[in-house]
Amino acid sequence: MKRFAAALALSLCVAAGAQAAAPAPAAPVKMWRLDCGQIQSNNLNDFSDTFAYTGQTKLLDASCYLIKHADTYMLWDTGLPKELLGLPLTGPGAPGATLAKLLTTQLATIGVKPEQISIIGVSHHHFDHIGQAADFPGARLLIGAPDVAELKAPGNAGAKALAHWLSGDGKLEPVTGDKDVFGDGSVVMLNLPGHTPGHHGLLVRLAKTGPVVLSGDLAHLTENYVNDGVPAFNIDRAQSLASISRVKQIVANLHGMLIIQHEARDVAKLPAFPAAAD
Ligand SMILES: [Zn+2]
Repeated sequence: MKRFAAALALSLCVAAGAQAAAPAPAAPVKMWRLDCGQIQSNNLNDFSDTFAYTGQTKLLDASCYLIKHADTYMLWDTGLPKELLGLPLTGPGAPGATLAKLLTTQLATIGVKPEQISIIGVSHHHFDHIGQAADFPGARLLIGAPDVAELKAPGNAGAKALAHWLSGDGKLEPVTGDKDVFGDGSVVMLNLPGHTPGHHGLLVRLAKTGPVVLSGDLAHLTENYVNDGVPAFNIDRAQSLASISRVKQIVANLHGMLIIQHEARDVAKLPAFPAAAD
């Protein structure tokens, strides 16, 4: 009986504690879209394991995002590497990817210094999403834990760009499952594996614009998102389809906006830089 009374008291305490820990009102959130380069696909079937795009080519945007939560700045993805700055997109010897403006240059336009970036979240470890991370060495890096494991495997191409964090010099936070970045539900990394094992998207709840889902590489083009298309180079087809299905339901349930980060017409749903969405 004594034990029962103690258990009851404990459960009441827990209930009271849960009430006291009700989420604080969300801080104001703003979001800017940033130009993180362009990639030319001369064979769009690279993005379809069902050969949906035979004979088609496409210019893919690479987009990054700056999020301001109260006074804290966070970058979502860091784009193509600086080495591609000013290179021609096409022509003999062209690498098929180019960068018009550095992230640091764009941030300077709105008066944000590299050391003001406290958090970098990356959707996954591919080169076009982590390319300029090293310009923000003071930031804590949020990245899917399974992607960290892949980066630490011998010979991983992305390891160099994130060496500062993988070596233990920078603050690295491997993310398992979803991650509520600021603890108030306003910015949440969504676990969307399939493209890579630790792939994530980002849900950003903006007061005026409404909920926005940044896709990462859940899909590279609208057609793949709409038609459940999967690139042959994704790590897991079933996971990719489950992740697309999850995002479709989130967008429907929240009446949200999806931004496919490589799709220029989606990126254009947000105000052109330096204007911000709020
Ligand atoms: Zn990509």
